[in-house]
Amino acid sequence: MNCTACTAPLDHAAQLCPACTGGLDVRLAELPGLYLLLADQLRPGAGRSDGPVALVREAPLPVREDVLDMRAAGGMVTTLESWREAMQEARGWGQPACTGSIERRIMAAARGLQLNLDWIAAEFEAAGDLAREIRALTGQVNALLDPAPRTLSVGTCAADLGQGDICDAPLRVPAGTTTVRCRRCGTNYPPHTWMTLATGAWAPAGAAA
Ligand SMILES: [Zn+2]
Ligand SMILES: [Zn+2]
Repeated sequence: MNCTACTAPLDHAAQLCPACTGGLDVRLAELPGLYLLLADQLRPGAGRSDGPVALVREAPLPVREDVLDMRAAGGMVTTLESWREAMQEARGWGQPACTGSIERRIMAAARGLQLNLDWIAAEFEAAGDLAREIRALTGQVNALLDPAPRTLSVGTCAADLGQGDICDAPLRVPAGTTTVRCRRCGTNYPPHTWMTLATGAWAPAGAAA
């Protein structure tokens, strides 16, 4: 008998090994919070106090459709609700109610699965698919929340911190924004300076004459 999610051998008849059961438990507990965090990603830059507020007001940044899809019907809520429904059906129970805001539905579906985790790990025949799908879903959400892979590198900070001490911290353009701000010294670089930064042709202030 092997775990239906990771194929590790099991010492007694079950669907999931302890590691996959624990991982599923943690992910189900995390997902409602991750859903809330995704709201901050809808308009990158819009909620930042150091962002170009006037610019945002005049020309709203486009909504990130990948984040929108994950938050809408058909996204996270549908994955969780279909699994809860499948689990209830397998137990011979009726269909769960899916009412209220998407936020509440996500909480209810994740909680419903968590409350039945012992049965899922021991007997639910689709437990392996459930565990793998929830792991993939959590990975997708975390990727949406982490802007690092989506940023563009534009070189290093050219700010002179005094006595020719150039900051030199790596600069990145966060997804969806038009402001590059050095995380080390706070210097702002508007878009027209990016090419100069990227080519390393920046003349330190005072050095050009
Ligand atoms: Zn496993
Ligand atoms: Zn800097």
